[in-house]
Amino acid sequence: MIQLHVTITALSPLCFSERRPGGQFRFSIDYVSGAVLRGAAAALMLRAGEEQTPTFRRLFGVGQAPAALFRCAYPGDAVLPHTAMSCKDYPGFLPSPGAESSEARHGVFDTLIDRLCFEQLQPPGLLYMPRCLEDHCDPGRAEASTGFYQRDATRYQSRSMPQRLLTRVGLNRQRMAAEDALLYSPMVLSEAWWSDQGSEQAHFVGSVWVDDDLAPALRTTLPQITHLGSGAARGLGQVQIACETGPSSYAESARLQARLCAFKTMVRSRWQEIATLCEATVPPCPYIFTINLRSDAILKEYGWLSTTVLTAEMLQVATGVTDPSLCLLRSYSSYDYRGGWHTAQRLPKDTALVTRLGSVFVFQTADLTPWYAPLAALEVSGIGERTAEGFGEVRVCDNFHIVGRTRQ
Ligand SMILES: [Zn+2]
Repeated sequence: MIQLHVTITALSPLCFSERRPGGQFRFSIDYVSGAVLRGAAAALMLRAGEEQTPTFRRLFGVGQAPAALFRCAYPGDAVLPHTAMSCKDYPGFLPSPGAESSEARHGVFDTLIDRLCFEQLQPPGLLYMPRCLEDHCDPGRAEASTGFYQRDATRYQSRSMPQRLLTRVGLNRQRMAAEDALLYSPMVLSEAWWSDQGSEQAHFVGSVWVDDDLAPALRTTLPQITHLGSGAARGLGQVQIACETGPSSYAESARLQARLCAFKTMVRSRWQEIATLCEATVPPCPYIFTINLRSDAILKEYGWLSTTVLTAEMLQVATGVTDPSLCLLRSYSSYDYRGGWHTAQRLPKDTALVTRLGSVFVFQTADLTPWYAPLAALEVSGIGERTAEGFGEVRVCDNFHIVGRTRQ
């Protein structure tokens, strides 16, 4: 499979509401989900009368496994893991050196490796408590930091889309005047806004994994999409999409091995440092790796029971590896509910329990060697259900666990 990089530029306000409003206000999710992009691509091909073509049937999995996996498109390149923390009083990534910034920020850091080593080794009389890493910060309380971020040349930057409230009224078709009780207020993602750098336009970065021979067809279709999300008839959702070919899955596999090794080295060195605090003999450092969720995942235990924890058995089933030594050390996860609208069937989708993006699952094994290839394959195929719609995208040993050891 090869990866197509997709950049979505908003030309009008965007609205991706997940469910019908219980009250007057309707909130939008703050990124473009894979299902939205997939639905728009399918609708375009359906309108062109390509429903019965083998390309359409393979791309969207009619009577077979889908040959294209649409990932969610985010305002930044990466998602902060649930273990990331920031100062409670001055939260946010450090400003770039030399830049004039009106607000003080004490940086974002990651707590996974320290917390894991402390919990496993339990040095006598010591407990791990995360604290702001800025010198002389008082009281230095830390709290979880979530969201999307981007790495520029010199610094990390948090990325989010500002939302604004529109108010619209329904018209009575006979009288052509405002209809009673049809005032509604969708919360929309702004297409542009003012920041320190001047005017900024809303960009989302995502990707699609697709079988090699179908990539040209999808590369032609995606840039033809002009609208995403709801409210196209009311001036919402106008977009421009650019698409370019990225690396193949083999190239990604080499990068994964490098990340696994860097993670192993980092855990080893911290394990040794904390082991010196323990009086008793300490066990040798085990092989540890993490599975990070880069998008919401629909996980089912035994194939039917909704859960928010990825167990060792589920990981073995998903990767096809049999490893009796594999065990789940820790999980840092949260949950949410996701619905949606099925464009082709014109029916609402089932509301599913999802494990939120940014969740982290830490596994221990006796030997990493049999895991390299299956984990690389898992990064492409995703985990859980509805992976073609962008659910269950995983990243093994997210880089932020390593770079976040020092505050960014
Ligand atoms: Zn602080």
